[in-house]
Amino acid sequence: MAQQIRVELRPDVERLTAQDARPGLGVVLVGDHPASAVYVSSKTAACDELGIHHETRRLSPRATTEDVVAVVDDYNRRGDIHGILVQLPLPPQVDAVRVLDAVDPAKDVDGFHPDNVGRLVQKRPRFVPCTPAGIMELLQRHDIEVAGKRAVVIGRSDIVGKPMALLLMHANATVTVCHSRTSNLAGVAREADILVAAIGRPGLVRADFVKPGAVVVDVGMNTVEDPALAADLLLPSRLPGFEKRGSALVGDVHAPSVTPVAGALTPVPGGVGPLTIALLLKNTVRAAASVT
Ligand code: NAP
Repeated sequence: MAQQIRVELRPDVERLTAQDARPGLGVVLVGDHPASAVYVSSKTAACDELGIHHETRRLSPRATTEDVVAVVDDYNRRGDIHGILVQLPLPPQVDAVRVLDAVDPAKDVDGFHPDNVGRLVQKRPRFVPCTPAGIMELLQRHDIEVAGKRAVVIGRSDIVGKPMALLLMHANATVTVCHSRTSNLAGVAREADILVAAIGRPGLVRADFVKPGAVVVDVGMNTVEDPALAADLLLPSRLPGFEKRGSALVGDVHAPSVTPVAGALTPVPGGVGPLTIALLLKNTVRAAASVT
């Protein structure tokens, strides 16, 4: 599906490029967080594949808020940069709120600027955060009915949980948002026809969280290196890969126990992650199209 979205974007990229308005993505990467570097290179490789211009400004782990804002301001002014991506997390000395507030809302392809958040809340979105937007596309393209359904979102982050809950509510689901202080989490989750796990805790969602036949979307991206944990969390088909590499990416859903109960379950890796990147490309192309 992520590939299909990229295929659909190609004619727009070609048309904009022919009009001398090739879409451009400006990335800011601060510090040497290994996972962030991997995420940025997946995003920029996807830009390359589609013919989107991109550039990445790398700043040292000791960069100040002013240093990061200066890069954002430069991207804000540039006519050839239509989308700006500040890779999170930022180091602790950098004020992430000030940095994200500095992004021009018309170039805020991650949808984190308060203008865009407010517009989403009011159901007149401009840019919607890529992960929840990708999940809505996933549900639509699989003809999964949302209206009238019970949806439970575990996680209330600004990046995933909150916008996910808003999008599901706007699509007429009845939505419950859970978090670390929710009591009887499994019982609440079990009411869901659509269950979204965006927690950051490997395999937390087990079979007893899932109503038989429910659609389960696993947003989590966690690395496991402990062989005993891997033996518990991974589907048997993934164990040889773990033994070879010594680590594996797992979601927040315990796939071995949930797979037989759920009606559908997104895989990790290869599920929400690639869709998130596809939606980033889509937002970047839209940003470029909106100024031509
Ligand atoms: P986050 O900002 O750390 O938020 C995690 C949320 O989970 C918080 O609301 C937290 O509750 C809740 N939580 C933590 N432990 C819990 C528990 N034991 N029971 C119930 N709720 C619990 O994380 P995030 O940025 O939303 O990301 C969540 C996961 O998705 C991570 O694994 C991240 O790597 C992954 N992710 C994947 C993609 C992708 O493209 N696939 C994109 C973004 C994020 P409190 O609010 O009470 O602390």
